[in-house]
Amino acid sequence: MGIRMKQIALFERGIAPTPIVEMSGDYGKNRYYIKREDMIPFSFGGNKARKAAEFYKEIKASGADVVMTYGSNSSNHCRIIANMASAMGLSCHIISPEENREMLYNTRLVEDFGAVIETCPVTEVSQTIDRRIDAYRQAGRNPYFILGGGHGNPGTRACVNTYKEIAAYEEQTGIHFDYIFHASGTGTTQAGLISGKLLAEAERCQQGQKIVGISIAREEARGREVVRQSIEDYLGDAYPRLFKEDALLFTDAYRMGGYGQYTQDVRRTIEEVMAKDGIPMDSTYVGKAFHGMKCYLEKYQIQEKKILFVHTGGTPLFFDLLDK
Ligand SMILES: *Cc1c(COP(=O)(O)O)cnc(C)c1O
Repeated sequence: MGIRMKQIALFERGIAPTPIVEMSGDYGKNRYYIKREDMIPFSFGGNKARKAAEFYKEIKASGADVVMTYGSNSSNHCRIIANMASAMGLSCHIISPEENREMLYNTRLVEDFGAVIETCPVTEVSQTIDRRIDAYRQAGRNPYFILGGGHGNPGTRACVNTYKEIAAYEEQTGIHFDYIFHASGTGTTQAGLISGKLLAEAERCQQGQKIVGISIAREEARGREVVRQSIEDYLGDAYPRLFKEDALLFTDAYRMGGYGQYTQDVRRTIEEVMAKDGIPMDSTYVGKAFHGMKCYLEKYQIQEKKILFVHTGGTPLFFDLLDK
């Protein structure tokens, strides 16, 4: 128990600001900075670790004895939640689609953290979750369920914190970013960054950065709508006053056929960033989005701007790519 409690100190203290550094490589005619969310010191870090820190408080307050969530064999979220549950001394139950069972590093880690992995056809995920929650309750257990990817208000709040760190960096250094780019999946990260920006703009009466979500899976209409809805859920009463459609920049132009799909150009970009900056990027999220950002800046001929790319983690997936 002693060792477990020490790991948890990070969640009790809250996550310290992650580094923002200027990049060395020549990725186009702008200045490029990167925020290293992958360096959050828990279970290989990433935005799922940041979200988990918020869910930690909710789980503790609820008195749950089993943490449940959903995700595929490549899920960074499932790795982090399984690790956190084990560190808290709680059981962890993961529902996962049976269609994709290739053993990836994240799959291995989830198993090593002692989580139960229950597979079912992807079309039956939501019934399986409901049934399993009921079964736990009937057995006198107290489950806490987290949506896939750490979606929901606690996850959004976590990513508002990411925005606050960016704003604090700008204030300290006098460097103002014109754009913030990142990989957009469930939309939580983007909803948090945009909510943070809207709140800061209202407070300071000045225009913030353009925040561009590069979709790694969803098509534009649905992807945008989920981000917008998450912003509304988070801002609540302030939403009608603060939200403007043009604050939500989301593109599906680089989704390359959907989740997990990437091109050889993405792979070359990943190799380039590793060689020039020593930063690992995976092909499902971060490398794909970084490459999408390069294409976007070229397409719209954006030059001589200060660009911040948010590295959202996924380091175990980088190693999966090395095996291919
Ligand atoms: C989940 C994930 C994302 C996407 O974040 P969302 O909040 O789901 O949009 C991006 N990068 C990595 C590495 C992730 O694991």
